[in-house]
Amino acid sequence: MNWYQLSGEKIMDKLSVKRSVGLTKATAKLRLDKMGPNQLDAKKDRSLFFLFLKQFQDFMVLVLLAATLLSGLLGEYVDAIAIIVIVIINSLLGFFQEQKAEKSLSKLKELSAPVAQVFRDEEWITIPSNQVVPGDIIKMTGGDRIVADIRIIEGESLEIEESALTGESMPISKKTKPILEDGLDYADQKNMAFMGTLVTKGNGIGVVVATGMKTVMGQIADLLVQTKPQPTPLERRLADLGKVLIIVALLLTAFVVLLGVWQGHPMYDMFLAGVSLAVAAIPEGLPAIVTVALSLGVQRMIRKKAIVRKLSAVETLGSTSVICSDKTGTMTENRMTVKQIFTNQQMIHVTGEGHGLTGEFYQGQRQVAGSFVQDILLYGMICNHAELRKKNKQWQIDGDPTEGALLVAANKAKLSEEDRKKFKIIDEVPFDSERKRMTVIVEDQNKQRFAITKGAPDVLLPRVNYIADENGRRPYTSKDQNRIEKTLNDMTGDALRTIAICIKPLTDETTTDSYMVENNVTFVGLVGMIDPPRKEVKKAIRACKDAGIKTVMITGDHAKTAEAIAKQLDLIPLNGRVLSGSQLNQMSEHDLRDQVEDVYVFARVTPAHKLKIVQALQGNGHVVAMTGDGVNDAPAMKASDIGVSMGRSGTDVAKEASALVLLDDNFATIQAAIQEGRNIYENIRKFIRYLLASNVGEILVMLFAILLALPLPLIPVQILWVNLVTDGLPAMALGLDQAEKNVMKTGPRPVKEGIFSRGLGFKIITRGLMIGLVTLVAFVTAYQNTPEHLTYARTIAFTTLVMAQLIHVFDCRSEKSVFARNPLQNLYLIGAVLSSIILLLVVIYYPPLQVVFETVELMMRDWIFILALSAIPTVLFGFTTSKDKSNNKK
Ligand code: ATP
Repeated sequence: MNWYQLSGEKIMDKLSVKRSVGLTKATAKLRLDKMGPNQLDAKKDRSLFFLFLKQFQDFMVLVLLAATLLSGLLGEYVDAIAIIVIVIINSLLGFFQEQKAEKSLSKLKELSAPVAQVFRDEEWITIPSNQVVPGDIIKMTGGDRIVADIRIIEGESLEIEESALTGESMPISKKTKPILEDGLDYADQKNMAFMGTLVTKGNGIGVVVATGMKTVMGQIADLLVQTKPQPTPLERRLADLGKVLIIVALLLTAFVVLLGVWQGHPMYDMFLAGVSLAVAAIPEGLPAIVTVALSLGVQRMIRKKAIVRKLSAVETLGSTSVICSDKTGTMTENRMTVKQIFTNQQMIHVTGEGHGLTGEFYQGQRQVAGSFVQDILLYGMICNHAELRKKNKQWQIDGDPTEGALLVAANKAKLSEEDRKKFKIIDEVPFDSERKRMTVIVEDQNKQRFAITKGAPDVLLPRVNYIADENGRRPYTSKDQNRIEKTLNDMTGDALRTIAICIKPLTDETTTDSYMVENNVTFVGLVGMIDPPRKEVKKAIRACKDAGIKTVMITGDHAKTAEAIAKQLDLIPLNGRVLSGSQLNQMSEHDLRDQVEDVYVFARVTPAHKLKIVQALQGNGHVVAMTGDGVNDAPAMKASDIGVSMGRSGTDVAKEASALVLLDDNFATIQAAIQEGRNIYENIRKFIRYLLASNVGEILVMLFAILLALPLPLIPVQILWVNLVTDGLPAMALGLDQAEKNVMKTGPRPVKEGIFSRGLGFKIITRGLMIGLVTLVAFVTAYQNTPEHLTYARTIAFTTLVMAQLIHVFDCRSEKSVFARNPLQNLYLIGAVLSSIILLLVVIYYPPLQVVFETVELMMRDWIFILALSAIPTVLFGFTTSKDKSNNKK
């Protein structure tokens, strides 16, 4: 027997689970231990040893190893050992950087792992999907990715798209009854939901029958290709840049070596110097540091409740010029409270805040009994999926907040769950943001059937033919219509979210066609609820504005409600416009592009409109972030430059389509992520600037010395040491630097902006040149004074080069001037610089290392000379840039 052939009860018997209880937590744990986690066997993690070995694949490391071998063969054991030690330390550094990057990437994956809602110990709980076990009773809702193989036992209009399994992209309508036929294909097993497929519509409940590798998907998992993470555009651009730099460095090195040999320097010395110089000049650590900077930045974002699903999003965030954000739940709290009810031609005000179940009803100043509004609230309660639950002595809503608010109001009118249960739901047309309404067909205790429809008033009112009154109902007149429209206008003007509630008695028992039941309906009333703006959003919108980023509200809500909220949030400027979905329908793509710059609120839109809006904005050259939570939002999110999904309320589909997930569904988090994204990019610029200027300095000092027919100012191990110490820690610390104050005060970075733009290339060349020059001056001065003491002069040059770089690192923290920032702010950098200085002192003063690095002790006056020289590149440019700035100000 196959699962699909058995009835729901049989399956639950077989799997020892009761629908009313679910699995107990203890049974679930036993089953999890026995069956293993519900996941497709993940690719084995690469071993650490492999990662370490990988470091030796690097071309320059291999060259160094060859150089070690040569030194060894020539009997230069000190050189050989020094080089090998440096290679090993270098590889360890690379290894730790890469390991850190891998770890944080897998942590990211864990955080965005899917969850499932299961019924255990008589309550619905949310668990990570890998904890689901056979026998679990599980909920499926539109937008969910199915997490295991499930036999569906309850379902309302459940539709599942199974292309992941069958290749068929048309959703399949699911059933709950057993199917008796033998040997059915997966596509024909209409009462089953398979792992990896997608709920496109409706709701359902099922029993998990297989998990992990036992699922149909698990059996074909071997066929699935594991996709390798793609390098981000920045990483790709840097890799290209790296290639160019390698060629330039090799050419320069070759030039230096040939010139040196021609001038009579010994071959071996020049070979080793050449190799060391090439190693030093090539910023081989760059890609790893970029990845570390990106992934550490991403971890900072997680602390701010934003998860980046694609590393490339970090760069795009910095270029974002428009954020299109949903209103409900993202800009507002999604804590709805019913405030006004319009029924029986009367406006009733409701008191009480939040989810508290006590409140009174007032007509003007006069308190009225709850019975006055009981009818409309009863309908609102029946046409409703939410549930009220008490947790920690507080009432909480399980389900849609709009529906929850209706339940709370019904409780205030003394209606209870018992009243709701008197009505049997026969059929349902679920709510979706396209239709903006929901209908249930119910049967009362007298077997009388009728339909209840609730939804956006402007969608329902055109379908109204009758209006409910004391005697039942009467025809709907234009006077009623005017009255209702005026009321609606007042309610929406007060920023209330409105719902109309209508009913329709069904005489013909077979009428379940949604067109029939949702037309010619009887108007019962309007319900208005508040959903206050989140406190932090106003500030975030302001910050975005300062950063040259426009915020656009996109909502399914009524235009006036949306506008009122937009005003409360200072989102809409004086000349800003509100455009509705129906106006959008009238507009050509071209018209929309013309007008979109002035529009700040799009109201009563459907997900399909979102795509049109994204395209219009992109057509005008914007980089667009678009939020979304439902299945239908996915196309617009994918088309946008940054899809942003909601961690709490978002569907799996929306999350999969997004680059950024907001753990708290909060607009302010997008702003925080953009700020962090900009900062990460700036930090990457900082260490590129530092690394390349250092390398330019190193090459130039050697080149100048050779051109001037001087002895080599640095010996190979010294160059390697400089490369290792200064390139390693200080560069990493720059990657962790705090943002400059103005990161959110300048406009978004143009997408096409190159890495070297905004004067970075100029800074690298000029600072590098100066570092090379002061090192040369230090060398020449020391050498001239005591020509017989070449070792002394080299120690001076070596120390000057290191100190010049360690001072210059502070210059790299600011786009403006070294004096623009407090140098003590970045403690990582202080630590990195101090430890580099300690390592420098060890090399200069520790006798055994003096032999290896050919250094001698330095005196006080040497240090004064060195520090004065090495400060020049930074201080000089510090002054000139500050002066430029003050001139500009004038
Ligand atoms: P946003 O896109 O900002 O999240 P929204 O959540 O208000 O907007 P929808 O959920 O599409 O957008 O709701 C649109 C309208 O549909 C609401 O203004 C309301 O009138 C109506 N509505 C919302 N939820 C329900 C529901 N559960 N049942 C019936 N009607 C609803």
